[in-house]
Formats: sequence, C-alpha cells, structure tokens
Amino acid sequence: MQILLASNNSKKLAELQRIVADNEALAGRGDVEIIGTADAPAYDEPVEDGRTFSDNALIKARAGARNTGLVTIADDSGLAVDELAGMPGVLSARWCGEHGNDAANNELLLAQLADVPDERRSCAFVSVCALVTPDGQEHVVEGRWEGQLLCSPRGENGFGYDPLFVPDAEIERAGSIAQARSSAQLSPEEKNAASHRGKALAQLVPVLVDLLD
Ligand code: IMP
Repeated sequence: MQILLASNNSKKLAELQRIVADNEALAGRGDVEIIGTADAPAYDEPVEDGRTFSDNALIKARAGARNTGLVTIADDSGLAVDELAGMPGVLSARWCGEHGNDAANNELLLAQLADVPDERRSCAFVSVCALVTPDGQEHVVEGRWEGQLLCSPRGENGFGYDPLFVPDAEIERAGSIAQARSSAQLSPEEKNAASHRGKALAQLVPVLVDLLD
C-alpha cells in the first residue's frame, strides 16, 4: 500500500519513513510505502487558507486523497506564543509578511516581545497531522513541544524559529535557561525524538495499522 505524505519537504518525508520503519507492527509488513508529492501523480496544490492548523492539514490531505486516490497524510505546523494569544500560529511561515523569510520572522517576533519578561515567554511548537482516505475517512492528531522564547537567537541548526526556542525539558536538564540549548543547538536526532511533528506522526501509527488490517 502506498501512502502519500502531501509535502515537498524531504526532511518530513524521511521522518515519517523512519517512524514507519521503527514501528514493529508496520515494519513487519513489507507492503507499506510512504511517498512524497514528487513521486505521486501531479496535481495543483490547494490554497492553505484555513484559520487553524487542523483546517490547513485537512485541506492538504483531502486534496491529496482526492487527486491521487491514495491514503494521504498532511501536516501543518507553527509556533504558538502564549503572550500573543497563540500567534504566529498558522501565520508562522509568513509572520513578517513574506513567506519563508526566517530571519525577518524571528526579528519581528523578538521586537514584538521585547518588553515581555522571562516568566511570560512561554510558547509551543504545534504540529497537526491529518490522514484522509480516498473513501472519506478522516483522522486528525496534534503534537506539542512546550518551551520558552529566548530574547536573542542561539544556535545554527534547524530552521524557522528554532534559534529562539528552548524546550522546557532542556531547561530542566540544564538547570537554567541560560545553560539550556535552543532547538537550533540540538542534533537532528535529538530534535526529531522530542519534536511536535514526531509526536503527532507517532499518533498516526495505530491509524495506519488499522487501515492495513
Ligand atoms: P510548515 O508547516 O512546515 O510549513 O511550517 C510552518 C512554519 O512554522 C515554518 O515556516 C516555521 O516558521 C515554523 N515551524 C514549524 N515547525 C518548526 C520547527 O520545528 N522549528 C522551527 N520553526 C518551525
């Protein structure tokens, strides 16, 4: 069975493929293959105009299932800052007004929160994954990675808001936020093991097992 991950992001594809490979119930079945958009029949990507992560994940997963006839998984993610009532949220990729300009997004966010004290800088990376089957079954799961927003960037790995985000578990391990590593200082393996996306995708494993039975 081929399953489409409706994404052009090769890192997300590799992450889902690894989760499937690491899962005994799924790995034992040689008939599961996760493919990305590049390897699926071509179709016009839908406009992501939902108001929530869940809306956008469903828009993408429904379009994939409808156009390819494959069981389709799609994710939508972003940073939710408590002091900003959950924003940038679905606008995370284009918070500065330009899609995908990470440096400008980070700079604007830091400026907006310049006067916010440490005890009110809580936030979370959120990932919502939707799985849609061609016959219309829909499953939506959410993963969260809780943390604190730094006052200046730290670290070179990762992407997006990683240099501004320190996971709560890392603060606990290091003993203080000053000693803690941002998610841009974690290795890719450490980040994948703890991240919002990994937590969301892991919740889809039982759904996949059910579908295959
Ligand atoms: P997308 O759902 O992959 O398109 O991500 C939307 C946006 O959320 C990205 O452009 C980033 O700004 C932000 N984002 C989502 N996940 C992460 C992460 O793991 N690290 C840093 N930024 C993230």
